[in-house]
Amino acid sequence: MVTEAAKYTSADAERLNAELGQRSAEEIVRWAGETFGPAIKFANSFGAEDVVLQDIIAKNAPNVRVFTLDTGRLNDETYEVMENVRFKYSDIPIEVMFPDHQKVESLVREKGFYSFRESVENRRECCAIRKVQPLKRALSDATAWMTGLRKDQSVTRTDTPAIEWDEGNAMLKVNPLIEWSNDDVWAYVKANKVPYNRLHDQGYPSIGCAPCTRAIKPGEDIRAGRWWWENPEYKECGLHE
Ligand code: SF4
Repeated sequence: MVTEAAKYTSADAERLNAELGQRSAEEIVRWAGETFGPAIKFANSFGAEDVVLQDIIAKNAPNVRVFTLDTGRLNDETYEVMENVRFKYSDIPIEVMFPDHQKVESLVREKGFYSFRESVENRRECCAIRKVQPLKRALSDATAWMTGLRKDQSVTRTDTPAIEWDEGNAMLKVNPLIEWSNDDVWAYVKANKVPYNRLHDQGYPSIGCAPCTRAIKPGEDIRAGRWWWENPEYKECGLHE
């Protein structure tokens, strides 16, 4: 798919961020929809930020395409919210990307079902097969992508701008909620009656695959429940590196 946006390069990301980075999430989403049309794709993992962004997209730029990565290890609660979102925003189809079955079969045959607990390298291998490679496939017909990243989600995200150049995928990446706080997200969810993952009510601020996500205790860092056996600086799945 070729659009006007295909002409953007890494040099444009900084300029666009200076121009648009301080605008509201709704304005950034509208700009993205008008600029890229269906050539921009939103990666929805159905966490609180992502259901907010889905609602903003539905109201401001419904031509933005939406996809999700089904790793095969998600919680039931995640499928439930996925279904509720599909129903509420039925005009916006959700592309569901699955991992390459041969790679998953060979990983499990050689290393078992919990290899990701053994080392950061093994964990990254599982994330690469179940998340990163399907993401690349999802983006193969896009010229930009959109995420619900926020700065205070993780020590790895504090310098992330609203519009950045994604070197790995060689395209612009748009993060309209980057400046939002956790309270902003929940105020939006409640005010707009957005369907959300009920694991959030059970102490899960951040939700990924079932075996790699746990509830946190009061006062713990919001990413403490993700890959809790690793150091904070390693806690990215490869989608946002
Ligand atoms: S989060 Fe865990 S189960 Fe999911 S892809 Fe990464 S290592 Fe594998």
